[in-house]
Amino acid sequence: MTTGSTEGAAVPALEVRDLHVTYPARGGRGPARAVDGVNLRLHEGEVLALIGESGCGKSTLARALTGLVRPTSGQVLRRGVPLRYTGAAMKAHRKDVQLVLQDPGGALNPRQNVYGAVAEGPRLHRMTAGLDERVHSALSRAGLRPPQDYMSRFPHQMSGGQQQRVVIAGALALDPSVIVADEPVASLDASVRGEILRLLLDLRRDLGLSSLVVSHDLGLAWNIADRVAVMYLGRVVEVGTVEEVLLDPQHPYTKALLSVLPEGGARGRRPVLLAGEPPDPTAVPGGCRFHPRCPAYAALDAAGRTAAGCDRRSLPVLGDGAGDGAVEGAGAAQGSGAAKGGRAACHLVEATA
Ligand code: ADP
Ligand code: MG
Repeated sequence: MTTGSTEGAAVPALEVRDLHVTYPARGGRGPARAVDGVNLRLHEGEVLALIGESGCGKSTLARALTGLVRPTSGQVLRRGVPLRYTGAAMKAHRKDVQLVLQDPGGALNPRQNVYGAVAEGPRLHRMTAGLDERVHSALSRAGLRPPQDYMSRFPHQMSGGQQQRVVIAGALALDPSVIVADEPVASLDASVRGEILRLLLDLRRDLGLSSLVVSHDLGLAWNIADRVAVMYLGRVVEVGTVEEVLLDPQHPYTKALLSVLPEGGARGRRPVLLAGEPPDPTAVPGGCRFHPRCPAYAALDAAGRTAAGCDRRSLPVLGDGAGDGAVEGAGAAQGSGAAKGGRAACHLVEATA
């Protein structure tokens, strides 16, 4: 696999360092800390699943990675180079890092045929030499074969799965090196979800594409990902290989998510239902932000809770392999304490490790 870097394979395709995205207060609600201190690396050729329940900040992180949202603080790095928010740098970044959204029906213009939809990006980026061939090849890569059968179709003449393939072809037509797919199968029939996920894997195999696949469904990671990052209320709380995270989860939140999967149940885990209110990024609890809903904390007696300190001790953010137990770079972990190595951000995991 090429890395396009002189620093060797260790330089990630895409990385965020101590990323914060806070949306301003509105309608009487305070500012929303949608992404609240995340370190995450997408390695070259890797498929990384980003998992968490609705509202935890996945889409905001995905949009920050593609440059569509500007971080409040922290950095986005493309092959080790910090992203600059100037017009030209942004244009190049958005060509190279393609965002695929959940709803292909919404992403496609109903009045534009498939050729027009796939050619739109290349036209915008003045990649018009050999445009027909480019569109043809992108459709074929996206599994719409033979491509000429699809060129003149309109969105309403296609299934949801075919529409999503057109959206993916539109991304591929720009020769990206990274795909960020935000819930790419959530709006599709169960029967075609597997096909679309397999397509992302084929693109990695055939083109060496790196992908970040966002989902609320931890089970989806099994089918597609090399690694998994589990997000809760703006933070990554556990990150590791699929085998590590799904077969030997450490964080109580990951364990709870896993326990409600059909496969989790089949393995004899009792479903863990999380107590308390759904998380609210305008009111992030102190200490460990998961403690008000944490089954492991709830199971402690009073002395155990005092000793663990989950309600008052803040947690270092996970480093995701950046540096040796710490994120490189001055101010990399500003406001959040030092970043750390390890798989799970949990006082109770540390206590028993
Ligand atoms: P997810 O994709 O995991 O569901 P999002 O990133 O969409 O999460 O949202 C994270 C939090 O930020 C949510 O509480 C959401 O209400 C809030 N949020 C998202 N977009 C905006 C916005 N433009 N303005 C204010 N708050 C927002
Ligand atoms: Mg989302």
